[in-house]
Amino acid sequence: MIPDTMNAMVLEAGSNTLRYKELPVPRPGEGQVLVKIHACGICRTDLHIMDRELPGIKYPIIPGHEIIGTVVKRGAGAVTLSEGQLVGIPWLGYTCGKCKYCLEGRENLCDNALFTGYTIDGGYAEYTVAYEAYCFPLPGIFNDLSKAPLLCAGLIGYRSYTMKGEQVKKLGLYGFGAAAHILVQVARQQGVAVYAFTKDGDTKGQEFARKLGAVWAGDSSATPPQVLDAAIIFAPAGDLVPKALKNIDKGRTVVCGGIHMSDIPSFPYSILWGERCVRTVANLTRRDANEFLVIASEMPIITETQFFPLEQANEALAALRKGSIKGAAVLTMARSAT
Ligand SMILES: [Zn+2]
Ligand SMILES: [Zn+2]
Repeated sequence: MIPDTMNAMVLEAGSNTLRYKELPVPRPGEGQVLVKIHACGICRTDLHIMDRELPGIKYPIIPGHEIIGTVVKRGAGAVTLSEGQLVGIPWLGYTCGKCKYCLEGRENLCDNALFTGYTIDGGYAEYTVAYEAYCFPLPGIFNDLSKAPLLCAGLIGYRSYTMKGEQVKKLGLYGFGAAAHILVQVARQQGVAVYAFTKDGDTKGQEFARKLGAVWAGDSSATPPQVLDAAIIFAPAGDLVPKALKNIDKGRTVVCGGIHMSDIPSFPYSILWGERCVRTVANLTRRDANEFLVIASEMPIITETQFFPLEQANEALAALRKGSIKGAAVLTMARSAT
């Protein structure tokens, strides 16, 4: 039975905390499915939304884009997913299929895209609707709700990883949170040595990185023992860009994996010279998701998570902001047992 109302955590215009509210359960429109949510991971992007650091937020908005749930109803024209199916709902919620980016197979750059928990309602709720073409049938490992962070930290982390360039044997990861703690395991399995950089003095984070397979872990301001073949920056701190550039070899790339970053300080041209490259990664394509879900189901990725009940989303976000979450935070829904 689908109830008439649901609980949700809602961000209203002008507020910087979420409100616990009772709302009508949404109805699936054309091509959409109604999904009963079991868990939703918390991503750093959610903090950028709370802090209004991103343009074009839809208000009021239900944040959350690492959703594990079950399809409970199909809207008109929804034919590929069935009721009872376990699905994941990621950040990319809709693309137009018509703009030049979509036609070129770069739907992550679509001019008319909609994003879950940002421009359409997301997963900090008991139910949500989503376009079925952007939901992913999930393998059985996702019955374990601690896997929710794979749906963004994993997916976008993986897209960043694929942008690191060819023949990378030594990879630096700056910011050892949700994405890096997943990626270090994928890299290690592929024979890539990870050098993990945490906030200066975060010895606990460094220990955690070594435990998950980093060959070296140290402060962001440190020089690693080897010149690196690539670096990915997940922390939203622009001053890491010149730091990372100094640590990579000629002809190599620094990938910025976050949606928002503080200003990058000016730096001497000499550290970019030698065909070094700085690039960003924006959103994800469905192809990235499909590739990563195969990897995730074939290798046992450990996700270190801390669970919070839905109504404690504000506390969970505060803990993430403080840096006290080891791995990732995940919200669970009280009614998810049925
Ligand atoms: Zn995310
Ligand atoms: Zn498009």
